Amino acid sequence: MIPVEQAETIILSLVQPLDVERDSEMLPLLEARGRILAGSVTSDLDFPHWDNSAMDGYAVRYADVQACSAESPVTLAVIETIPAGYQPQCVVEAGQAARILTGSVMPAGADTIVIQEETQRDGDQVTILAAPQPQAFVRKRAAFYQSGQPLLSSGLRLQAPEMAVLAAAQCAQVKVYRQPRVTILSTGDELVSIDQPLQSGEIVDSNQYALASLITQAGAIPIRLGVVRDEPEALKQAIAIALDQSDIVLSSGGVSVGDYDYVEDILAELGGNIHIRAVAVKPGKPLTVATFEQKAEGRGQEAEGRGQRAEGRGQEAEKARALESADSRFPLSKAATLYFGLPGNPVSALVTFCRFVEPALRKLSGLPERAWKPTFVRAKTQVDLRSNGKRESYLWGHLDLADGLYEFALAGGSHSSGNLINLAGTNGLAVVPIGKTHISSGESIYVMQIGRSLQS
Ligand code: AMP
Ligand code: MG
Repeated sequence: MIPVEQAETIILSLVQPLDVERDSEMLPLLEARGRILAGSVTSDLDFPHWDNSAMDGYAVRYADVQACSAESPVTLAVIETIPAGYQPQCVVEAGQAARILTGSVMPAGADTIVIQEETQRDGDQVTILAAPQPQAFVRKRAAFYQSGQPLLSSGLRLQAPEMAVLAAAQCAQVKVYRQPRVTILSTGDELVSIDQPLQSGEIVDSNQYALASLITQAGAIPIRLGVVRDEPEALKQAIAIALDQSDIVLSSGGVSVGDYDYVEDILAELGGNIHIRAVAVKPGKPLTVATFEQKAEGRGQEAEGRGQRAEGRGQEAEKARALESADSRFPLSKAATLYFGLPGNPVSALVTFCRFVEPALRKLSGLPERAWKPTFVRAKTQVDLRSNGKRESYLWGHLDLADGLYEFALAGGSHSSGNLINLAGTNGLAVVPIGKTHISSGESIYVMQIGRSLQS
């Protein structure tokens, strides 16, 4: 059993980010929203494109107005009006001004804007009532961005502000990383799919839904392979199929002590290297992490050739749909596929995804290093928190902002890792470190935010 941080370090070291050339595609700008920029963008435009006015007012020569005040105003001749979008026609000479509107091009000769509120207009003359600062309200060409410099850097997730910048730079098509493909398979003879009648002793495969949502939220494509029976050959074949088509494979269930031996054998038979077998985390201890080198010929066909079936309960159609929806334009020619054997308990599966899978997914996606780790915020706990002190514990609840400071409210009801009901509505996992058995209400704690995956 290794500590959480060590597990995180090992996992991140196993991930090779998508390749900026091989794993990228050009998309029309709006279709690229939420995707991650592959390579930096430069523009041959300056921002602003030309000297222009930041206010409605008059473009003047500073020397003409530097000494004026309400008591000794200066009157200038208005030689033209320059609306936004028009090129000035005249040069402003001494004793002259041009009426100018926000964003309009500065006329030659003028170097300063006097805002409208400090002027008095009378026909084709304007009286300046206060001295401006030199070059007041002039936005100089290239003051915001100089052509040829990097405009946006690689690894940036494209949201509204980046959209605006790319549109302004006339980038109608942008190069973004492809979305990682993550295959989910649920193991357990007790599991049925959402639309099947429940017999005594059976439960619905809810992990598939929670994991698919988390994967989508993280910007990746979930491929749902459905339920796999608790049987080594079925599991082996399902994992083999999954490895052929994915960047990451997630199985849930079947990795607790009783089942463990055969999972390890299966992973070894498929050529996997096991890096992690258990982590000192609660919930989530039986976490398995393995890597598989990519094979040119594919493992799925090989396993299929032996006549095994992966599905326990007639989920062929669902699998076919899942495979079809996967973005298969990109061959998976990267170095290795990462396999996570998550614990089956719904809460354990969710916690281990957020704590260990999501950072891997974020590194794989092309995000910069500062965005890989989960976000922990300091919060004041509203209630006493308890743990056995032996493992790093994650207690689910709600983070709220009160007067700009976070407060953590523990979810009501049972904190058994099998209870998924009181997970609903939560947005944070309070951390009780190893060695601590009790944190008093009012103390400051770290809370890991969940469900914020689209930010970087
Ligand atoms: P396991 O890790 O296979 O021993 O499973 C631990 C617990 O989680 C058992 O009570 C399972 O019924 C439950 N479980 C396993 N897989 C799922 C799943 N996909 N959805 C919901 N519960 C599950
Ligand atoms: Mg099981």
